[in-house]
Amino acid sequence: MAKLTEEQRQQRAAARARRDALAREERHQRAEERRQRWRREGTYLSWEEYKAGVPCRGCGQPLLGHASDRPPQSRMTDREREERDNEEKQFQERHGECHEGRWLVSGCPVVHCFACCPTPPMGPKQAEQLAKILFSSRSEDRKKELDVWRLTLTCDHVIERTQHNSHSSYSMGVTRCSECETDRGVVSSERVGPLCDQEVTREPDTPGPVERERLAAELASAEAKLKRQQRNAAATQGRIDEIRAKLTARANDGG
Ligand SMILES: [Zn+2]
Ligand SMILES: [Zn+2]
Ligand SMILES: [Zn+2]
Repeated sequence: MAKLTEEQRQQRAAARARRDALAREERHQRAEERRQRWRREGTYLSWEEYKAGVPCRGCGQPLLGHASDRPPQSRMTDREREERDNEEKQFQERHGECHEGRWLVSGCPVVHCFACCPTPPMGPKQAEQLAKILFSSRSEDRKKELDVWRLTLTCDHVIERTQHNSHSSYSMGVTRCSECETDRGVVSSERVGPLCDQEVTREPDTPGPVERERLAAELASAEAKLKRQQRNAAATQGRIDEIRAKLTARANDGG
C-alpha cells in the first residue's frame, strides 16, 4: 500500500476527531434524555429516601452498605477477591448490554449502571457547599487561574471557553454551542492564553441550567473522588476549581 502523504494523514486525523466528537455528543444526548425521563417519572430518590435505605429505583439493588472500602486488588484476601468476582458477574448479567459505564457509593459493594440507575441525591452538606459556591462573590483570584480555549464543534461553530490553567488540553468532550443553543461535541481545541491577558475583558463561562446541574453533579463526584484518590489530588482539585469558577460565574449572572 502506498504511504500516506502528510495531507492525507491530516485529513484522516481530522475525520477521526470529528467521528469521536459526534460519538461523545450522542452519548451526552442519551444521558440527557435519561435524566429528563428520570425526572419526569420520579425515578430519582429524595435525600430522605436515600438515607432511609430505599434501594435504587433503576435496578432495585441497595445503595447503602456498611462495608469499609475494599483494599486494592493486590492486597485483597481470597475471599474479597471471590466476592468481587461474584459482583462483577452479577453486574455483567444485569448490565452487560448497557455499555454506559458504572458507579457505586462508597461503603456499598453493589455496582450501579449509568444507563439504568440514576445517581444518588445530593446531601444537605453537599447542597450547602454548592450554594456557598453558587452565591459567593466571584473570586478575582480564581479568574487569574483561568485559560481561554478556542473550540471547534461538530456544528463547525468556533467558540471560546475558559478552564482552569492546570489543564494541558481541553477537558470537556461536549459543550454548549452558543450559536446553536445545543450541546455539541468538541472536534478540536486550541489554547488561546490566560483569561486576564485577553484584550477584551471576557467573563468566565456561564453555563445554562442543564449544564449547571451537570456541573453540580460533576462537582459532587469530583469531590468524592478526591477523598478516595489522594494520589490524583492535584488534577481533581484543578477540576473542582474549574467547575467552581463556572458555577460562580453563573451565580453572579443572577441565573
Ligand atoms: Zn441501580
Ligand atoms: Zn444497565
Ligand atoms: Zn453550533
